[in-house]
Amino acid sequence: MTDETSFRAETRAWLEANCPPAMREPATALDDAYWGGRNSRFASPEQQQWFEAMAARGWTVPDWPKEYGGGGLSPEQTKILRQEMAALGCRSPLHSFGIWMLGPALLQFGTEEQKRHYLPEIAQGKIRWCQGYSEPGAGSDLAGLQTRAEDMGDHWLVNGQKVWTSYADKADWIFCLVRTDPTTKQGGISFLLFDMASTGVSTKPILLISGSSPFCETFFDNVKVPKDQIVGAVNQGWTVAKYLLGHEREMISSMGFGTGDPSLGRQLVADLGAFEDPVLRAQVALHDVDALAFRAMSEKFLDELKHGRAHPAQPSMMKYAGTELNKRKLELEMAAGGSDALEWESARSDGGTVPRNWLRSKANSIEGGTSEVQLGIIAKHILNLPGA
Ligand SMILES: Cc1cc2nc3c(=O)[nH]c(=O)nc-3n(C[C@H](O)[C@H](O)[C@H](O)COP(=O)(O)OP(=O)(O)OC[C@H]3O[C@@H](n4cnc5c(N)ncnc54)[C@H](O)[C@@H]3O)c2cc1C
Repeated sequence: MTDETSFRAETRAWLEANCPPAMREPATALDDAYWGGRNSRFASPEQQQWFEAMAARGWTVPDWPKEYGGGGLSPEQTKILRQEMAALGCRSPLHSFGIWMLGPALLQFGTEEQKRHYLPEIAQGKIRWCQGYSEPGAGSDLAGLQTRAEDMGDHWLVNGQKVWTSYADKADWIFCLVRTDPTTKQGGISFLLFDMASTGVSTKPILLISGSSPFCETFFDNVKVPKDQIVGAVNQGWTVAKYLLGHEREMISSMGFGTGDPSLGRQLVADLGAFEDPVLRAQVALHDVDALAFRAMSEKFLDELKHGRAHPAQPSMMKYAGTELNKRKLELEMAAGGSDALEWESARSDGGTVPRNWLRSKANSIEGGTSEVQLGIIAKHILNLPGA
C-alpha cells in the first residue's frame, strides 16, 4: 500500500467515525455555517462536535504548518482530505475570512511573531475577521482609497470610512487597507490589522431588500493602532492586498461547489422528483458537464498554486468561470421549481432558500472584484498588455 493509499483509507475511516450525519447534509445558506469568533455560538451539538474534532487535528487549515496551528499535510494529502470530505458530503467545519484570505497573506508576508500570534487563533476559530478594502469611490479602483493612517511615533492614527464590509458588525478584528502616503497611489498603501472593539470604530449595517444586513458601512474616527500590527513594510500593502485578493477570488469561485455531489440533475430529482421538460433537462445536463469540467480545472489550478506554478491570471479565471456557473445553477433551480421557487417564506419552499440563494448569487459577480474587472485582468495577463 502506498503512503497516499493508506492516508486515504485512514482519512476516510476517521471522517466516517467523526463527522456526524447532520454535518454531511449540505448547508442551505451561508449563515447556516459556523464562523467562530469571540461571540460565536454553535447552531447544534453536531456542529460543535464536528468543529472540535477537525480543529483538534489542525484540519480546519490542513495544509498550514503544524507550528502555526495547521494540520501540516502535504498538498497531496490535503487534496485527498478534500476529496474524501466531498465523497461523504462533509461540511466545512469553519467558515472564516481568516482561513480564506488573511491566513495565506500572513503565511506569505507576516513576521514570525505575527504568524505565531494570529495563525493559531485563525485555525481555532477564536477571532472572526472582516475585510476593510472597499470605500465609497474606491471599489474597482481600489488603489484610490482614502482612509488614512498617520504615523504618530508610537502608534498609527486611522481615520476614514469603508463600505460593503461583510459582517463588520459581527467581526472581532479587521484587516484593513489604509493610505500611509497621499502622494502616490498603489505605492502609498499599507495593510493594517486591528481590533474592531478599539475606541473610534463604529459600524452601520446596510439593510437589503431581502430584510437581511450582511454588510456594513464602517467608520474610523481617530482609531489608535499599535505599530506592530502592520503586515509587510509600510507603503508596501498593495502587494499584500493583491495576494490576498487572489485567495479571495479563488474562494468565491468555489461558492456552491464546496462539498458533495456537483450534479444539479441528481439534486433536483431528489428534491422535486423527475422533471419532464426536455429543454430544462438539456440545460441541466449541460450545466453538470460544465460543473465537472470546472471542478477538474479548479483542482489543476489549486495544484499549480500549491506548487508555486500558478499563472497570474488563474484566480481571475477561476472567479469568473465559477461565478458564471453558480449563477447558472441557481437560475436552473429557479426554473425547475416553477412558481414554488418564487415563494419567500412558506415551509413548502423551505423558507425561500432557493430564491434567496438565487438573489445572493447575483452578488458573486461583484464581490471580490467585478466580472468586468476580472476579464480586464485576464486579458492583460494573457495578451501581455500594459499594466499586467
Ligand atoms: C456580497 C458582497 C460582499 C462584499 N464584501 C466586501 C467586504 O467584506 N469588504 C470589502 O472591502 N468590500 C466588499 N465588497 C465590495 C466589493 O469588493 C466591491 O463592490 C467591488 O469591488 C466593486 O466595486 P464598486 O462597488 O465600487 O463598483 P464600481 O467600481 O463603482 O463599479 C461599477 C461598475 O463599473 C464597472 N467597472 C469599474 N471599473 C471598470 C473597469 N476598469 N473596466 C470595466 N468595467 C469597470 C464595474 O464592473 C461595475 O459594473 C462586497 C461586495 C458584495 C457585492
